[in-house]
Amino acid sequence: MPTYTFRCREGDVFEERHSMAEVPANAMCPQCAQPAVRLPSAPHLSAAGSSAYGLIDRSARSAHEPEVVRGGLPGAPRRSGGGYTSNPLHRKLPRP
Ligand SMILES: [Zn+2]
Repeated sequence: MPTYTFRCREGDVFEERHSMAEVPANAMCPQCAQPAVRLPSAPHLSAAGSSAYGLIDRSARSAHEPEVVRGGLPGAPRRSGGGYTSNPLHRKLPRP
């Protein structure tokens, strides 16, 4: 849920969390109880729990905990018996 910034007539600035569909144009100031208007700014979207944080965590973890690499190196000759498929009908297909 994004955080929106409001400012009352006294100049108090505060933030409230609302859903983007139900964000009010006005709110009550918690300090002076005056009506406050929403400031025209981009909502502060939280990236917590998003795929962006997952990617950052995975990148940081790979620096000291690299994942196990399975299979051969690119360009290295393939082992016999190994291939892309285990379907016996595919063995009859022409090879590149
Ligand atoms: Zn106020």
